[in-house]
Amino acid sequence: MTATSTPSRPDLSIVVAAYNEEDVLHIFFDRLRTVLGGLGVSYEIVCINDGSSDRTAEILNAAHAADPRIKVIHFARNFGKELALTAGLDFANGEAVVPLDADLQDPPELIADFLRLWREGFDVVYAVREARDTDSWMKRTTAGIFYSLLGKVSNVQIPRNAGDFRLMDRRVVEALRLFRERNRFMKGLFSWVGFRQTSVNYRRPERAAGRSKFNYWKLWNFALDGITGYSTVPLRIAGYSGLVFAFVAMLYGAYLMLRTMISGVDMPGYASLMVAVIFMGGVQLVVLGIIGEYLGRMYSEAKQRPLYIVESVLGIDPPDLRAVVIPARAGERV
Ligand code: UDP
Ligand code: MG
Repeated sequence: MTATSTPSRPDLSIVVAAYNEEDVLHIFFDRLRTVLGGLGVSYEIVCINDGSSDRTAEILNAAHAADPRIKVIHFARNFGKELALTAGLDFANGEAVVPLDADLQDPPELIADFLRLWREGFDVVYAVREARDTDSWMKRTTAGIFYSLLGKVSNVQIPRNAGDFRLMDRRVVEALRLFRERNRFMKGLFSWVGFRQTSVNYRRPERAAGRSKFNYWKLWNFALDGITGYSTVPLRIAGYSGLVFAFVAMLYGAYLMLRTMISGVDMPGYASLMVAVIFMGGVQLVVLGIIGEYLGRMYSEAKQRPLYIVESVLGIDPPDLRAVVIPARAGERV
């Protein structure tokens, strides 16, 4: 697609989303370049500054000035990791693309294994965490519940304990670029597109420096995006629960009728009546909430807003997509 504008594709594109990563970027580039230097392939490092408010922007600009293979995309604000990753895949030119976290939790040394398997003919090589011992018990359990639930209610099987860390062939990246949905869950899309996939195991280390940008509220919303993005089963559950309650009500009605015929009319029942009314009210609100989750997402898709706004770029051509790219003002950003 971009073959005319970029006649010389590098073998490998590394895509790095960075949001307030000033503490770790220096160590990151040092280690990454040592690894890449030993691989014997041509490469580019596409960095997305996701609206950082610390010195991330300056560090990236300086890195580009020192090594033009480091390319920089500055977002106009913080759009979140999924969209930063999306932009990286849109912009990256390599024959193979590897997204990496800036905090070195995705050890770059693994890329050698990725490349070996890629050359053997696999289109996607993803990394699987052997043990999640660097995650808290809570994060491990909730992640476990989420993946088994998602596997049950949708037809995408997301490999367990795999993150965004993977190598993707150009063909896969071109396929992913076709997805312009707003509420995205990249791991789901990675599985959805298919192709020949394989995995390598690794042990996920702790963050090299700085702090995690995710909390449980963000992860919960992320999980909702995951479920609603790949399944309409929750909507169906709403319908079935309506049927179940109607059936129970019919049985209960029949029982009351029989009881009245056999032992006459009596009036007590205020408590049970209240419980039933409140319970049904609750069920109806939950069902409305589920519908609302989908409706809200339809609304945001229907607006057709751009996925992200690029404020300026360094050393890389904007891809031919719906992304709005605002050119840098002259004399700005060195
Ligand atoms: N990140 C981002 N935008 C955000 C939050 C995070 O680009 O709004 C990047 C962050 O800089 C890092 C990667 O996403 O490179 C993973 O984030 P983090 O390490 O905080 O997540 P965790 O590993 O704790 O899940
Ligand atoms: Mg991390």
